[in-house]
Amino acid sequence: MADFKIGQGYDVHAIADGLPMWLCGVQVPSEKGFVAHSDGDVAIHALCDALLGALGLGDIGLHFPDSDEAFAGIDSKILLRRVMDMVRSRGYRIGNVDITIALQSPKLRPLIDNMRSTLAEVLGCSVGRISVKATTTERLGFVGRGEGCEVWAVCLLEKKFCYFSK
Ligand code: MG
Repeated sequence: MADFKIGQGYDVHAIADGLPMWLCGVQVPSEKGFVAHSDGDVAIHALCDALLGALGLGDIGLHFPDSDEAFAGIDSKILLRRVMDMVRSRGYRIGNVDITIALQSPKLRPLIDNMRSTLAEVLGCSVGRISVKATTTERLGFVGRGEGCEVWAVCLLEKKFCYFSK
């Protein structure tokens, strides 16, 4: 018997010159990066929202407001660890995670395995439960013009041996 919860998250960050580009906890070699209060890891932000959504606990802005100086420049993996603590404290673990990153450049394929293992380490699950996919938008829209990066994340949480659940 298992109890499942599904969640989805979405985030966008603008791209500007001279900023670091972090995605899924991995620094992407690029002369451009994401405009943000934190380290701008738009993929981890979408994943945090998926996990929080599955638990019905609001969103990342509620828990880690960008008006709070404590989160200025913060490594988003720290935020993800805190969200995962909320998952665990409610008796759930990761069933699987699937992330889609829309970015015109650079190409992310060489970094995907590192992104998956980095997220698996933070979430405390096997790499096989983590999927990271990347696409361009064929130069269409704000992503295609290189103005921003868009990420969608979905997750399934599972609670094993649950006989009663609200
Ligand atoms: Mg964000």
